[in-house]
Amino acid sequence: MNTLDNILEEINKAESIVILTHENPDGDAIGSGLALYNALKQIGKNPDIIIPEYPRTFEFLPGSNEIKKESNVEKYDLAISVDCATIKMLNGFANYFENAKVKVSIDHHSTNTMFGDLNYVSPDAPACAQILLVVFEYFKIEVTKDIGTCILAGIITDTGGFKYSGVTSETFEFVAWLLEKGINVSKIYRKVLQTKTRANFELNRIAINRLEFFEDGKVAFTYITKEDEESVNAESGDHEGIVETGRDIEGVEVSIFVRETDKGCKVSMRSNEYVNVSDVCLLLGGGGHIRAAGATMQCTIEQAKEKILRQIKSVI
Ligand code: 5GP
Ligand code: MN
Repeated sequence: MNTLDNILEEINKAESIVILTHENPDGDAIGSGLALYNALKQIGKNPDIIIPEYPRTFEFLPGSNEIKKESNVEKYDLAISVDCATIKMLNGFANYFENAKVKVSIDHHSTNTMFGDLNYVSPDAPACAQILLVVFEYFKIEVTKDIGTCILAGIITDTGGFKYSGVTSETFEFVAWLLEKGINVSKIYRKVLQTKTRANFELNRIAINRLEFFEDGKVAFTYITKEDEESVNAESGDHEGIVETGRDIEGVEVSIFVRETDKGCKVSMRSNEYVNVSDVCLLLGGGGHIRAAGATMQCTIEQAKEKILRQIKSVI
């Protein structure tokens, strides 16, 4: 039996299942979670999906109105974590995972710590949602329009709209297949990537004004404070995309964005061609992918900036 056989066996056996994902969930986290939620319902299961807070942008995804903020089930038979590299990133909701009788992690981060009893991790996949396509095919679960929509939202988010290097021919085959099914791909694309909230725009404006260059223009650095977020009435996810602004500037190899939160400084790092930001973020206590990674640092923004720039100096 391989891992997927084992996971299917646990799904079939379980009477209570909970689906979880990482804190500050993005489109891949929510899309993967809801794709799995819809798929499990389709095969007669009645899972819970718990995501305490997520950006309004994703309210169009099928099943999102059934997302729970918490649950009073103390011990689920099965917990499945999607798109999450470490138990720490499940945040306050790790207890549902830790208390479950059987724990499964389905993910695409190379820095995944294999924190499940069963781990299905494919670091080559550009999005966790794309792994689910393989999983559902193996489980013989039909990918309906609803499931396809959730998966597409995940893929579009994590590939930056099919433009990052992780995109494979399977990605485009899947999109072609969705188009044949009559799914409005461009509408989903627009909803996921092009609809900015006003607060997101205002935060971007602040971050752009503050952006500084280092290492002969190869490094871009910017940040936002809690006060900034309060001043624009920011909601969950309104900081998304700010780190991309620096990366898109000619000559920049690494873009760094630091966000002050109650839990410390959240660092987002992106690179273009040669710096492995996952390695850099591992040294800062985080992780991620080669071209997109992050970490949480317990210090001030100034201290974080100094530490990060010191690490970057040796790899740029
Ligand atoms: P983002 O910058 O969008 O928050 O995160 C980029 C990537 O790095 C995501 O795949 C995310 O899961 C990962 N990442 C962000 N912060 C952390 C962290 O503190 N620890 C680990 N292991 N991965 C992180
Ligand atoms: Mn992902």
